[in-house]
Amino acid sequence: MRILLVEDDPALAGSLRQGLQQMGFAVESCQDGSEADAMLSLRAFDVVVLDLGLPGLSGMEVLKRLRKRGATTPVLVLTARDALQDRVTGLKAGADDYVLKPFDFEELEARLQALLRRTQSERAGYLEAGGLRLDKRSRQAFFEHQPLMLSSREVAVLELLMSRCGRVVGKDQLAEHLTGLEEEIGPNAVEVYVHRLRRKLEPFGISVRTLRGLGYLLEKND
Ligand code: CA
Repeated sequence: MRILLVEDDPALAGSLRQGLQQMGFAVESCQDGSEADAMLSLRAFDVVVLDLGLPGLSGMEVLKRLRKRGATTPVLVLTARDALQDRVTGLKAGADDYVLKPFDFEELEARLQALLRRTQSERAGYLEAGGLRLDKRSRQAFFEHQPLMLSSREVAVLELLMSRCGRVVGKDQLAEHLTGLEEEIGPNAVEVYVHRLRRKLEPFGISVRTLRGLGYLLEKND
């Protein structure tokens, strides 16, 4: 597995490189946003660990350019900045997950492994989260092998929530995701589909939480 590590703090970069190598990654690294952008446009990596505050080009800009080129490479963002705002902005720019600085290497390792597992199952054509499984080809969702009766729009909502499991999905993102199925999807329609899906998932101990002003979050109840 080839990983690109983009971090401008030399001490942190050094210890991350060591840890990632111990995890079995072939690590390439750089300390500058423009350099990262150049490396990402020339070569394919299996995963990217990206700091946001970088010289040359910000991590957010590197991420935006990567996604603009159509690359689906999973990206784990490192950020020390105001967590919530960064999460929302980064999510829109196409980050797959976050680790907030300062962090223990064990945390980064766990997030990276979860991210790679998620990417592998997505490429295999299904999504999995908290006992739920969605077959992307047949558009059928299951809870522990039991088929769920969902409309095509509810499946579309579930698909986006599952692909971003553990992270907030904005109402506008859902509207955009649903637009392919119907002409105009407004925020009110999104609320209706989310509400219907929520009622159908409740019996399985899965909730769709509303975070006011931010969006929705798929969660497994304890
Ligand atoms: Ca930095």
